[in-house]
Amino acid sequence: MSDNTEMMRYVPTTCPYCGVGCGLNLVVNNGKVVGVEPFKRSPVNEGKLCPKGMTCWEFVHSPDRLTSPLIKKDGKFVEASWDEALDLVASKFTEAYEKGGPKALGFHVSCRTPNEECYALQKLARVAFKTNNIDNCARICHGPSVAGLSLSFGSGAATNPFEDVLNSDLILMVGSNAVEAHPLAGRRIAQAKLKGIPIIVADPRFTPTARLADEWLQYNPSTHIALINSMMYWIIKEGKHDKEFIEKRTKGFEDLKKTVEQYADVESVTGVPTERVRELALKYAAAKNAVIIYCLGITELTTGTDNVRSLGNLSMLCGNIGRPGVGVNPLRGQNNVQGACDMGAYPNVFSGYQKCEDEATRKKMEELWGVTGLASEYGVTLTEQITQCGDPIKAMYMFALNPVVSYPDSNHVMRSLEKLDFLVVQDIFWTETCEFADVVLPGASFAEKDGTFTSGERRINRVRKAVDPPGNAKADWEIFVMLAEKLGIHGFDFKSAEDIWNDVRRVTPSMAGISYARMEKPESVHWPCPADDHPGTPILHREKFSSADGLGAFFGIEYREPAEVADAEYPFTLMTGRIIFHYHTRTQTDRCAALHYDAPEGYIQMNVEDAKRLNIKDGEKIHIRSRRGETDTIAHVGTDVAPGVLYMSMHYGNAPANKLTNTALDPLSKMPELKHCAVAIEKIEEA
Ligand code: SF4
Repeated sequence: MSDNTEMMRYVPTTCPYCGVGCGLNLVVNNGKVVGVEPFKRSPVNEGKLCPKGMTCWEFVHSPDRLTSPLIKKDGKFVEASWDEALDLVASKFTEAYEKGGPKALGFHVSCRTPNEECYALQKLARVAFKTNNIDNCARICHGPSVAGLSLSFGSGAATNPFEDVLNSDLILMVGSNAVEAHPLAGRRIAQAKLKGIPIIVADPRFTPTARLADEWLQYNPSTHIALINSMMYWIIKEGKHDKEFIEKRTKGFEDLKKTVEQYADVESVTGVPTERVRELALKYAAAKNAVIIYCLGITELTTGTDNVRSLGNLSMLCGNIGRPGVGVNPLRGQNNVQGACDMGAYPNVFSGYQKCEDEATRKKMEELWGVTGLASEYGVTLTEQITQCGDPIKAMYMFALNPVVSYPDSNHVMRSLEKLDFLVVQDIFWTETCEFADVVLPGASFAEKDGTFTSGERRINRVRKAVDPPGNAKADWEIFVMLAEKLGIHGFDFKSAEDIWNDVRRVTPSMAGISYARMEKPESVHWPCPADDHPGTPILHREKFSSADGLGAFFGIEYREPAEVADAEYPFTLMTGRIIFHYHTRTQTDRCAALHYDAPEGYIQMNVEDAKRLNIKDGEKIHIRSRRGETDTIAHVGTDVAPGVLYMSMHYGNAPANKLTNTALDPLSKMPELKHCAVAIEKIEEA
């Protein structure tokens, strides 16, 4: 054995994919990650991983990694030193700021990146450029959860941990295909089934999760509010609501009761017969402890926030909040969706949801950060920033995001990015969005840096460096520290990710008690945890809600149609979503051989009756168009979707669903309507 040969070692860390937050060991040999081993002591995954987790190391040493800063010169990208690239970024952002003020800049933060990096970039934007134009990609997945759960319960986060479903007497899943999208949370559902806990899946599509359920309730896409209002009508009519809980712990019940009086029969809207809705409602109400689990089928709509508040209404109506086995739990798609929001990469809050508009909070942050003049007004959200490219936004920072594929209406995104004076993209691989950049900065993968991810159950898990980044790539937090130095701003003398985390703790009361040392335990700690001797809070709202008055709020919410419904010209309703083998825009998962092999190309699910009528056979290529764009993909013919409905995965750049999707926004959370638009389809005739 030569002197520089390293013994095999195991580096405990957290899966870089979905928001379940599974623990795993990276197996390292001779400076390379050579495999993973599921972390047996992790209470989240108990020694199991899904296909993505098992292969999450493969992309780390891909020869396609970005290894040097790149600057576009005469239309071509050329390698540059860090000094040259960051001097250019600093000067262009400063120039845009001096000419146009805080409104001239935009910062987009990925939910894939550790808390420390999300925190550092939002601090840099706020301190250097006095702007709140900073947002993260939760905006296009769980923005409505943050908004809706905050309005209902006072905290925009999941109420109970994943394993707590095993304490339930009934599990109601709405718009969630956990078996595919969050497999290790799906495993908890399978365990609940083995325990005999009834599982009801309400979904327009017959998903693998619906197959697992005891009962599948199919309803017309995007009619959740009508369905839930009708359930609440029947619960109140039959006197099965929890009167004591409503009286002691909530407000707004009369408004809710009056609203749902109109929803006795919603079959014409939802497609579900009244008796079936009544039965479902009474089953939910009869369970001693019932939990609601939901996902993007609820949120990615122009009614997203209202859909979430409707689920909040239903849970409080039956007193299902604040103890084991109950609650309302969004499943988070990306590994750090929860954390990116928690860290203040959001246009109206600092870390820990401390409001920028509140003068006392701003003063406190100015003192703690040693700055003056922090912005008070609501910044521009991620999707609205795209519309503002060119006017007034001139310079944009895109951190580990690929909006050309992942944001709605790709053609609109590309036209908008072209209008910028200056775009920085910081990522680990070349993406479709890099084509529009002026500077591309090479960051580090999860295996090459320290930090933390916060899972969908508010558990803060350690990410540990196992190997060095390739070439001249750097940990992303180091890039922000170097840029802060170029900009001459204070408060960035961080020497490690832990230094940044300690800055988070210093300014964020709800996380003050969570040190790196406490995260050494496999179970780590759930926020809120305000002090070193506080145990953390796996279950929220036990005695009172997190709102200022301690009460949960009911809202009377009327059903409204999606922004675009099928018509004679575009007669199909298109829904979009994820598949088990891929993540985001596949920049990582498609570089894992097994995942590429299992799902090399996109597809669209359609009903067999529609296929017969249009003479389309299973496996044939079809053309899809909406009012915004068009694409081709493979037809999967079956009965998983109803006639008139289509379902397409969102991962594939070569069959981009987001060429078709609608940018219409939820008025409260600014979520675009990714899950519902009208399209037309045609068979592609062989030449
Ligand atoms: Fe990773 Fe999510 Fe799979 Fe767990 S369930 S291994 S966190 S992708």
